[in-house]
Amino acid sequence: MKKEVDIRKVARQHVEVDDFFAGFSIKGAEIDQPLPQQMDNNVAVVLEQIAEEVGKCRACQLGSLRKNAVPGVGNPNARLVFVGEAPGADEDAKGEPFVGRAGKLLDKIIAAMGLSRQEVFICNILKCRPPNNRDPKPEEIISCLPFLRRQLEIIRPEVIVALGAHAAKTLLETNKPIGQLRGKFHEYYPAPEAEAIKFMATYHPAYLLRNYSQDNRAKVWEDMKQVLAEMNLPVPTKQK
Ligand code: URA
Repeated sequence: MKKEVDIRKVARQHVEVDDFFAGFSIKGAEIDQPLPQQMDNNVAVVLEQIAEEVGKCRACQLGSLRKNAVPGVGNPNARLVFVGEAPGADEDAKGEPFVGRAGKLLDKIIAAMGLSRQEVFICNILKCRPPNNRDPKPEEIISCLPFLRRQLEIIRPEVIVALGAHAAKTLLETNKPIGQLRGKFHEYYPAPEAEAIKFMATYHPAYLLRNYSQDNRAKVWEDMKQVLAEMNLPVPTKQK
């Protein structure tokens, strides 16, 4: 039998989405302190080159189905990079990652961390939208992954956060479920001889929106608190 949708429950969840990651601030902080960063224009130039290549790429069928390629946005000198799965319809229309509902929740999570979208870098495993938001196919991941690897190699953030199972499993080259991968740091090697980058996996915001339990929200926040601690950044607390 088809399950009836409880409209009140859905509405309550929407309000809770707004509430849970809102109202965080750093005690005693009067002004937003931007992350200390040294601008490296060379990184910006290389990222721009990668974005141009992505825009011309036809290595898989998604290249001819897209409205816009979605290479990634943010600070070329970001200390923190978020990697999602693939663009959806909103991202395909705008050419920018995480601008739909899941993106709005990601923005709230970033703000709750005391950061802004401009300070971090946001991108995906796939740079083009799979039709009907289906899962990425292995051959699509194989063709697209070199773009992401090059982005991570040139940015070399202190921490990478993988949003959801696809990003986590792909970059860690494992089949373990996201529930086992999240909550602890792994290591990602951007190049064969390079130093490892700290890697945290957490639930995808779209998963959070679908499974909006107190437990899942708390787990994502726990993961983000570990990321802040690793970066020596203050952990904002909820102001009553
Ligand atoms: N979901 C993703 O994984 N990436 C986006 O850019 C948007 C939604």
